[in-house]
Amino acid sequence: MNAAVTTYDRQRHSDVASENAFASLKLNETLLKAVAETGYETPSPIQKAAIPPLLEGRDVVGQAQTGTGKTAAFALPAIQRLDLNLLHPQILVLTPTRELAIQVAEAMQTYARYVKGFHVLPVYGGQGMDSQLRQLRRGVHSVVGTPGRIQDHIRRGTLNLKSISTVVLDEADEMLRMGFVDDVDAILSTCPEKKQVALFSATMPSAIRKIAQRHLQYPVEIKIKSRSVTVSTVRQRYCQVTRRNKLDALTRILEVEDFEAMLIFVRTKTATVELAEKLEARGFSSAALNGDMAQALRERTVDRLKVGRLDILVATDVAARGLDVERVSHVVNYDIPYDTEGYIHRIGRTARAGRSGEAILFVAPRERRMLRSIEKATGHSIDMMLLPSQEDIADHRVNQFKALITSTIESEDLDTFASVIASYQQTLGADLSDIAAALAFLAQRDRPLSPKLAKIPEQGFKGEETRGPKAPNRTHSSRNNRKPSHDRPGSVKKLQPGMERYRLAVGRDHEVLPKHIVGAIANEAGLDNENIGYIKLYDTYSTVDLPGGMPKDVFQHLRKVRVCGRKLHIELDHGFDENTTRGRARTAEKLKKSRKPKTSKRGGTKKVKNSTQALKG
Ligand code: AMP
Repeated sequence: MNAAVTTYDRQRHSDVASENAFASLKLNETLLKAVAETGYETPSPIQKAAIPPLLEGRDVVGQAQTGTGKTAAFALPAIQRLDLNLLHPQILVLTPTRELAIQVAEAMQTYARYVKGFHVLPVYGGQGMDSQLRQLRRGVHSVVGTPGRIQDHIRRGTLNLKSISTVVLDEADEMLRMGFVDDVDAILSTCPEKKQVALFSATMPSAIRKIAQRHLQYPVEIKIKSRSVTVSTVRQRYCQVTRRNKLDALTRILEVEDFEAMLIFVRTKTATVELAEKLEARGFSSAALNGDMAQALRERTVDRLKVGRLDILVATDVAARGLDVERVSHVVNYDIPYDTEGYIHRIGRTARAGRSGEAILFVAPRERRMLRSIEKATGHSIDMMLLPSQEDIADHRVNQFKALITSTIESEDLDTFASVIASYQQTLGADLSDIAAALAFLAQRDRPLSPKLAKIPEQGFKGEETRGPKAPNRTHSSRNNRKPSHDRPGSVKKLQPGMERYRLAVGRDHEVLPKHIVGAIANEAGLDNENIGYIKLYDTYSTVDLPGGMPKDVFQHLRKVRVCGRKLHIELDHGFDENTTRGRARTAEKLKKSRKPKTSKRGGTKKVKNSTQALKG
């Protein structure tokens, strides 16, 4: 056994091997089997903390965000507590969006795959009522839906809540942000007095606290704490990806990053094996490391990484705990960690023995909040990383190929080959550069210098926005949902009294929509949607009207808030000033628009004329 194995954290390993930590949470066999098949090794922190009290029937307030494993935290105990013989809705999960409703319903179905006869139904606006009605009539145990559509059903009398015994508010602050708070309150009041309520929210604004005070009884409060740590020797970057293009994104990164050894973190044991196999198939020397593997095999695998017989390890958090291999130059968070602690531990697997290291984090649209929490906890801003383009990869391959020629000429004895080529050239009278090109082709046949790559949308978040439109029946202002009335081409509204116009460093080019801006400002500045005024989007920036006298700390905070992955850099908008750099930039933008046809959606003809004149004058 060599040093690699001795430095490896043995205690954790025996923990992994000896028990299924989910069993200690008193979940029944049927659920444990499904959980094990899903590939979960150990409960995440929120699961460890929330499952036992929920199984006891206690109310729970959990401060946790997407990605922490909160769905299983509430779904597993709720399913276990069901009366399967009673075919009436007993579990009601409220979610802010239809996407989350579908996701939660699917997760519940997965966890209940061995629970015979279990039925869960996602209901949300935008989907025809008929099939929902049919399924409701047939009978379901659990309903997962957006507050608007649930209210619709209650009003129509098609959803009876009298048997509800568990209500879950998932992403409560998001529901607040989207204006659903009154609906949530009303729905909770419609449910029977005697019920269990679990409330999950990433933040705890006062409106959510009020809901908790009104509807929860002696709740167990769970907060997944984040420690403030600086990992200064690790360069941290993040990359916007969607679930669909993660593998292609990783492949591109592997092509151009100069890494010695890489540790890739995924969530499940199954994913370690699947990803390692896919990477092997794409020509990267990789292996899986997970808690299912016997300890001896895990040690051998780490050993191979240590001595350079292996370059990539795809691991779960548990399996990689305490891993100490100097060669690890890169850590890739393929699946985002559950919490900031997890992130800090993961990236601590690089930059060992005084070296520096690189950490790359894949962030899906729904996980942007976690990115911000991580930045806070590490005290480091994480830079956005653009995925290498087709050209970058071609350039990289060509450079590698040239370097290989150089080193071969320098280090190999090529006399025999030179004489073969000379005789070939003499006999056939071929051109030397043609011969070299043909040999280059043969050498690179399996690795073309200009590879055709799978398409990845340039902005990882493009077309993947997960916020669905608001339910149509909502009564209060839906300013942020209107197809930007803020933003009619060419129209710039006059500033209302008492308001101030601010400029934000995000615009159409960054895929920003007014609703993103409203959401971010409402959430981060604690403003009601109603107080957020006129928004105008330009290509590279936007303006928003906000109530005058914004407190300094709110202003400073908003500067750092990110929308669509970019910092807002909010500043007071002083209007057009061509003597400043910004003024010039804006002039340039307006000029750019003036070259567009008049029918162009972007930019107003009238304003363009003015600014062109201003420039001339
Ligand atoms: P959630 O925060 O509930 O949206 O979960 C985020 C992701 O983590 C989902 O893909 C889950 O399948 C996964 N997940 C949840 N719990 C665990 C666990 N204990 N081990 C591994 N993955 C998990």
